[in-house]
Order: sequence, then structure tokens, then C-alpha cells
Amino acid sequence: MNRENVQEEAAERNPAARQREALWRGGVGESHAKVVAFKFGGSSLLGAERMLHAARLVRKATAVSTVAVVVSAMKGVTDHLLLIEKALAAGKLPQAGREAEVILEMHLEVLQDLRLDEETNRRVHGELQLLGRDLLHEVVRREQGTATAEFSDRLASFGERFSARLFAAALKKLDVRSVPVTSSEFVLTCDTFRDAQPLLEQSKQRGRKILLPLLKEGIVPVVTGFIGATPDGRITTLGRNSSDFSGAIVAHVVDADELVIWTDVDGIYTANPQETAEARLLHELSYDEARALAASGAKVLHPKVLPLAAESEMVVWVRNTFNPQARGTRIGPAGEFSGAPSPEGAA
Ligand code: ASP
Ligand code: MG
Repeated sequence: MNRENVQEEAAERNPAARQREALWRGGVGESHAKVVAFKFGGSSLLGAERMLHAARLVRKATAVSTVAVVVSAMKGVTDHLLLIEKALAAGKLPQAGREAEVILEMHLEVLQDLRLDEETNRRVHGELQLLGRDLLHEVVRREQGTATAEFSDRLASFGERFSARLFAAALKKLDVRSVPVTSSEFVLTCDTFRDAQPLLEQSKQRGRKILLPLLKEGIVPVVTGFIGATPDGRITTLGRNSSDFSGAIVAHVVDADELVIWTDVDGIYTANPQETAEARLLHELSYDEARALAASGAKVLHPKVLPLAAESEMVVWVRNTFNPQARGTRIGPAGEFSGAPSPEGAA
């Protein structure tokens, strides 16, 4: 059976696959390429070298797939941003201002280490400076008093906004066309700050208007994880460590076939490999098996990823950015035979 027949059969069985077929045959273009969302965690983005390494994984995947990227903040940056809040709460405005400057400097340094061509460097430098200025502005405004949970989300949002710009620049350096996209433009949420719930259908409608034209043009959108906005435009976050969930949301928005969570371990283990020698790497799991594993206390994925993945029938891979030769763990619908081929990016 050739690939086309397999796809048609899959589309017959599965409404999500049918929708994807229609999307990529009709509205979005002739492309039959697989659509994948890559989510990179903060340790995969810590510094220029790691960003370029991650960007190479994206470039490789773009040769055979249509790719959307979702990024966390660089490791440690969200914590650092929230220290500003603490300093302000303690009335230490000068310290808060200094922290904001340190955060800007940290990102400017990564930009410098990316060694972009002069024009791109100037442009991205300007973008980072603007973000830094907005951050300082927040600090000063807070001094005059803003509600705290809402303020804390606005502050925390800067980490992903910085990293998305830098990652898009890293892709550009590798000649991959890319644009940073701030998810608060389309991920609509309720107003429970620090733990906002996405309004999925509305987010999908809005997100498609922004993301599909880019994908159709072969441009890789680099979307900020973690953040959304209320319908009246106030920035929210989906809770700490939620950018895996953002990855699933973006994958859902673009009807991705696969979501790849790029992290710093080889996949999902039966137990914590740092704590027990018995821990075994799992190669293949059904959504239900992964959910049972999470319920038994294993650190698997953000708890909202798998329900959404199962609903959209997308396959989720957990893979190691620092060991892309390893196949990783594949989580998909029950009953699919194991031994699925390695995903894109595997060497
Ligand atoms: N940057 C956010 C956090 O540190 C989200 C994430 O990394 O998943 O909580
Ligand atoms: Mg993280």
C-alpha cells in the first residue's frame, strides 16, 4: 500500500485526519507534507549554541515537514522575572530595576553570541531593546500599584517573548524563514491569572488566521509558550511549566499530525532514572498508558497535553535535544503497531 492510500485509509477512520487532509489539500495548499509542532524547553534554549543546535533540528525537519515551533523562556529566566515581583513587594524599586536590566543584558549577550549578519543583528537588537524598555516600564508602573496576579503574569510573559525573538533569529541564521509570534495574539483564556484556562475553539479560530498563512508560505512561526490573553487583551499565563501544554495547543490549532516535545532526557521512563537503576525507557505508549503512568506519580508531561493530543489524535513524541539520535518515546492512539519509524530529526 502506498503512502497516499495509507493516508486516505487513516482519514476514513479518523475525523481529525480527515480534517487535516482537507486542510492541506484544499485551503492551505497542495502540500501533503506532515505537519509537526516542535516544542523546545528552557534548557534546550539556554545560550546561542543550544539555540543554534535546536534550530538545526528544525531546519532538518523542514526538509520533509511543515513545522511550527513553540518555545519556553531560557532556563531560569521566568524565576528571575518573578524575583522582580518579590523585590517590588519588598519596596526595593532600585533592585527591581537592576534585575530587569540584567535580564535584558542576558538576552542581548545571546544575540551577540549568535553572530548574525549586521542588518538582522541590528533589527533583533532593536526588538530586544524594546522588550527591555517595556519590562522596565512595567516595573515603574507597578510601583504606582497594579493588581498582583495580573502583574505577575505580565512580568513572567517577557521570558518567552525574548526567547521567541532570539530563536527566530537563530533560524534565520540557518536560512530558515521564520517569524516570532506572541501567543497572546491568539491563545484566548479566562482571567484566572497564573493558571488561565484556554478557550480552545476561539483560540483555534484566531490562531489559524495567524499561523496558516505563514505555514503555507513555508515560514516557521516561533510561538511563545506559556502565555495567552483574556478576550479583552490582558496577558495571562497558563501556569508554571505549561509550555508543553502551549505546544499541544499550537499543534491543535494547526491540526498537526505530531507534537514533538524536545527536552533534556531520552524520553519517558518507568521511574526517575536519576533515582533508581531500575528505570527503563519506554519506547511506545498509548494515551491511556501514558496517563496511567502520570497518575502513578511518574513525571511524564504537563497533565493537559495528553487529553488534548488524544482528542486531536495527534502523536506526541518526547525526545532529547541533546541526543537527537535517540528515537524517544512515542505516545499515540491505542492499538497502533509499535516500531513506528523514527520521526524527523532523528539522525
Ligand atoms: N517559562 C515558564 C516556566 O518557567 C513555562 C515553561 O517553561 O514551561 O514556568
Ligand atoms: Mg520547562
